[in-house]
Amino acid sequence: MNEFESKKSLVLFAKSLFDRGYAVGSAGNMSVMLEDGTFLATPSGSSFGTLVEEDISHFDEEGVLLGGKLPTKEVPLHLACYATHPSMRAVVHLHSTYSTLLASCEGLSDGLPFDPFTPYYVMRVGEVGVLPYRMPGSELLAKDIEQRPQFSTYLMANHGILVCGSSLKEAVFAAEEFEESAKLWYLGQSLAIRYLREDEIEDLKPKK
Ligand code: ZN
Repeated sequence: MNEFESKKSLVLFAKSLFDRGYAVGSAGNMSVMLEDGTFLATPSGSSFGTLVEEDISHFDEEGVLLGGKLPTKEVPLHLACYATHPSMRAVVHLHSTYSTLLASCEGLSDGLPFDPFTPYYVMRVGEVGVLPYRMPGSELLAKDIEQRPQFSTYLMANHGILVCGSSLKEAVFAAEEFEESAKLWYLGQSLAIRYLREDEIEDLKPKK
């Protein structure tokens, strides 16, 4: 996608996420990598609900501003995602309710954050990396990503979710799938859930 199409796409997905309550206030940020290796991102302090194309930040791999407003303070984290995942073209970060709740639980570690009970959780969410708690904007987060290159979805402890995708659409859909899975996990805690058996889970994993 070129710069024009990517800006349109960022505005559309931001509004869609905002309208359905996945992002409130000025929480969350998104970025895409353009064909020339530069980046577009949601501006610092902006709302997903009122994002306009002219305000979208354009910057290079050093974070130097090329156009638009100042980008989100999480730019180093986004750049670390692209550097760690050379095939990825978009990064979505949300403070969506159930993902943030799950990310705030004690005892999380890399892998499946809870036992699967729906096929979609195994097929579309899968294993996630857990980034330790850091101050928002902390430079240490980039290192945390670099240490977990095998994952494309991350739970940021006490903070939210971070998803890398081969396109903005793929990253947004993965973030939405994760949020829905986390919601089911939360709502099902007091129910007698039938969890998937080990062999059922194996059948759902992509064949190598
Ligand atoms: Zn955040």
